[in-house]
Amino acid sequence: MSSKNDILIVEDSPAIGLLLKSYLEKLDYTDIHICTTGGAAITTFNDLIAQNKPPIVLLDFMLPDMDARSVLTQILEIKPDVRVILETATEKDDEGIKELIRLGIYQYLEKPIRFESLKEIIETIEKEQTFFVKESEQEEMLKQAEKQMEVKTIDHVNFILKSTNQISINKITAILGFTHEFVDTYLEKLEQDGKITKMGEKKEIACNQCDSVKTSQVFFCPNCKSSNFKLGKLIEHYDCGNITEENTYENDKCPNCKKEIKALGVDYRIMKNHYICNNCKEFFPEISIEYLCLKCENRFELEEARWKTSINYKVNM
Ligand SMILES: [Zn+2]
Ligand SMILES: [Zn+2]
Ligand SMILES: [Zn+2]
Repeated sequence: MSSKNDILIVEDSPAIGLLLKSYLEKLDYTDIHICTTGGAAITTFNDLIAQNKPPIVLLDFMLPDMDARSVLTQILEIKPDVRVILETATEKDDEGIKELIRLGIYQYLEKPIRFESLKEIIETIEKEQTFFVKESEQEEMLKQAEKQMEVKTIDHVNFILKSTNQISINKITAILGFTHEFVDTYLEKLEQDGKITKMGEKKEIACNQCDSVKTSQVFFCPNCKSSNFKLGKLIEHYDCGNITEENTYENDKCPNCKKEIKALGVDYRIMKNHYICNNCKEFFPEISIEYLCLKCENRFELEEARWKTSINYKVNM
């Protein structure tokens, strides 16, 4: 079977019809149908569509029984993307021709017909069709890629869920980096299977720049902003006012005045749970906290944060 299109020639002059046919045969077209009236053309066109062999149509502007416009509208109704080449001796800027172009003819050929032009038009149509085939192949590949992405994402969702006892939809979305219907569908399925349980809504801190809830707390020294600090015990020596870490009081001697510390609560006190900066050596009962957006790296304070609410799930998997 030929991979080429069928051709339907609608031409009231048998001589021109045969001339076109023999030229198209030279171009390796084998299934060529000639109709001399519009009525016969529509019947033949219908038959070919029924056989799944949509033809390229060469349509004469002047037909004995119907005008080209009527033939065109009827075959366009049957197959809106049909390629119709209009043969005409009339000027292309004629209003009748313009109307046919608006109705959907693909190209027009001026009579007397130049075979070279016919060949060009037909070759373009064939190329376009190859392109469409490729495009549909691409669609298929795209679908497969989407399917693969879904499988990977579901793995990722499972992975996220197994890492926690409870998680919000906003958090899952933020970690995945996108939202998609199939994620919602999958969560619904997990819920039906009892793998996760809806716990109501959860309010979470979100980046005030990009809205992501994928944030992390950053702790730092209020004095020098260094994150290099430790939690430790300090001793304040009342006599001289020295406050330094417990381990600086070697053999119970104050590192500042060298006097011995004697009675807790009398000449010295212990300050537990203080943050001691390893960078600037300052100490604080409280450390500063900021939020770091893990998506856009914006840093913001609690007061500047946005809050986002979403369904929270308890994870039972
Ligand atoms: Zn952000
Ligand atoms: Zn510091
Ligand atoms: Zn001292």
